[in-house]
Amino acid sequence: MVTTQLQNTLAAEEQKLLACIHCGLCLEACPTYVVTGDENDGPRGRLYLMRAVGEGRLSNQSASFKNHIDRCLGCRACEQVCPAGVQYGQLLEVARAEIVKAQPPAGITGALLNFALRHVWPKPARLRLFFATSRVMRDLGVGRLLVRSRIARLFSKRFEFAFALLDSSRPSEMRSVPPRGSGWVQSLYFKLTRTSFAPTRYRAVLLTSSHGVPANQTADPRGSVLLFSGCVGEGLFAHVNRATERVLGANGFDVSTPQSQVCCGALHAHAGDLEGARKLARQNIAAFGSERSIPIITNAGGCGAMLISYSHLLADDEQFAETAERFSNRIKDVAQQLDNAKIEPSAATTELVTYDASCHLLYGQRAADSSLRMLRSIDDLNFVELKGAERCCGAAGIYNLLQPELSGRVLREKLTAIAETGASVLTTGNAGCQMQIGAGACLAGIKLNTRHPVELLDESYARAGIYSERRSGMSLNRITLAVFAPILIVAGIAGFLVPPEQSLTSGAPAYNVFHLIFGALGLLVLGLKRERAAIGFNIGFGLIDLYQAFASFIALPPKQSFLWTRADDVLHIIIGLALVMIGAFGMVNRKQQTK
Ligand code: SF4
Ligand code: SF4
Repeated sequence: MVTTQLQNTLAAEEQKLLACIHCGLCLEACPTYVVTGDENDGPRGRLYLMRAVGEGRLSNQSASFKNHIDRCLGCRACEQVCPAGVQYGQLLEVARAEIVKAQPPAGITGALLNFALRHVWPKPARLRLFFATSRVMRDLGVGRLLVRSRIARLFSKRFEFAFALLDSSRPSEMRSVPPRGSGWVQSLYFKLTRTSFAPTRYRAVLLTSSHGVPANQTADPRGSVLLFSGCVGEGLFAHVNRATERVLGANGFDVSTPQSQVCCGALHAHAGDLEGARKLARQNIAAFGSERSIPIITNAGGCGAMLISYSHLLADDEQFAETAERFSNRIKDVAQQLDNAKIEPSAATTELVTYDASCHLLYGQRAADSSLRMLRSIDDLNFVELKGAERCCGAAGIYNLLQPELSGRVLREKLTAIAETGASVLTTGNAGCQMQIGAGACLAGIKLNTRHPVELLDESYARAGIYSERRSGMSLNRITLAVFAPILIVAGIAGFLVPPEQSLTSGAPAYNVFHLIFGALGLLVLGLKRERAAIGFNIGFGLIDLYQAFASFIALPPKQSFLWTRADDVLHIIIGLALVMIGAFGMVNRKQQTK
C-alpha cells in the first residue's frame, strides 16, 4: 500500500496534525456534517479516515476515503472551534494530494481539470485569452440567455450553474438598466458603455462618469502598497481591483501592481496538485520582490488565505523557505490595510445591505472583521446583519461544480438566511462567494446584487466628492480631438507643400486653410479641457464635413467640387459620421450623469 507522503507528513507534524481528541466540538461548525448528519462528512470522521490511511489500516485507493475527503469544503470552520488546535486545512491538502496520486481524476471533468491546471492556469497569455473569451460571452449575455431560456438545463444542472456563475460576475454597472424614458440611442449608448469587451481602462474612457483619481492621492502619502490582482480577480472582477486602487489612493496609499504576478495557486492546492501550487508560489514571491517589506494587498479571501499559506507550502524548500515566510507576513486584505488608516468620510447608501463573511477571509486570513468594519465605515449605512454569516456558502473554489448536490444544499441555507434579511445587496470579500451566492439567487429567482464591500465604499467616496474632477483617462471625445486635430494640421501643411497635380485632394489653398484653421481650433478646444467644448467641436466639424462631402458627392461634378475625388468624399462621409456619433454619445452620457 502506497501511503508514504501522508505517513511522512503525519509523522513530521504529529503533535499538530494528530492532536484530535475526538471531542466532537467541531461537528456543529461543519457545514457538510450539518446538512448530511454523516460522521464521515464531518472533520472528526475525515481525520479518522486520514489517520487510518496513514497507519495503513485503510487503502489510499478506498472509495470511502476519496468520497468523504472530496466532499469537504475546505472552509476550515472546524479549526476555529477545535480546542486541540488541529490544523485541519494543512492536513486536508496533503490528503488530497495523496488521493490525486492514488486515484488520478478520471472522465471528462478530470481531463478538463487537468488540462486547465497544467496548460492554462500557469500560462498568463492563455489565461488572459480564457478570461477574455469568458467576458465576451458574459457581456454578450450568452450565459444569461442560456440560463433564463432554460436551454442550459437541458444539457445539465452543472452546466446551467456554470453559466449562472459567469453571469453573476458582471459588474454592478452592467446590471443596471437605462433610465426610464431613454430613447434607443440613449439605451444603446448605455449598454455599449457598460460592456467590458475592452479592458476596464478603455471602458473608463467611454464612461466619463467613472470615478476620477483620488484628490489626495499624493497629498499625504501613507506609503506604498502592491496589489495582488488575482487571475479570476483581474479576469472577471477587474472593477473590484480598480475600486480597491481608488479607495487605497483616497486614503493616501500609493498603489502599484507587479505585472509578472501569476495565479495564487489555490486552485492547484485544492485539487491536490501541491507541486503546481509551489511553482506558482515561487513565481509570485519573485514578482513581488522577496527582499522588500511593502504590504501586498488582496481583495479576495481565497487568494489571501493561499498567499498567507506560502510559508507552510514552501517550508521544506531550502531556497525559498525564508523568503516565503517574509512574503506571507506581508499579505493583507484591503480592509486590514485601511484598519490602520483613518478612513475618509463618505456618503450614505440607500439600499439595504447585508454582509457574508467569506470562510477564507474569516478563517484563513482572519480579516472578516476588518472587512465588515470597512463596510460599516460608510456613513449612515443601511445595514442588516445576516444570520450564519460565518457559515460557508458552498463555493469553495470549484467545489460547486465538482460536488453540485452537496454545494447546493449548503447554498440553500445561505440563500434562506439572506432572503430573511430583506437586503437587496449582499456584500462579501471573496469573488468565489460573490459568484456562488449571485448564481444561487439568480436560479432561485431572488433579486440580489452581490458586491464587494470595497465597491460600496468606492461609490460612496465618489458620491461624497472625494475623487477629484480629474478623470482617470480622457473622454472618448477628447481622445478623438487629440488624434484628429494634429491630422488636420498635417493635411493642411502638406496641401501647401505638394503640387496640386500630385495632391490627393483638390490642392485648393482654401481647402488647406480650412484644414489648418480647424486643426488649430481643435487643439485649442483640447487645451480647454472642457468636455462640452470637445463634444461641440466634434459634432460641429462632423456636420460641416458631412455637408461638404455629400454636396460634393451628390450635387457637383467632381472637378468643380470642393473635394476632388469620390474616394475623398467617401472618406469624409465616414469621418463626419464618426465625429457626429462620438459627439452624440458624449451628449447622451453627460445627460445621464446629470440625472
Ligand atoms: S474539535 Fe478538534 S479535537 Fe475535537 S473532534 Fe474536532 S478536530 Fe478533533
Ligand atoms: S473544512 Fe469545513 S467542510 Fe471540511 S471538515 Fe472542516 S468544517 Fe467541515
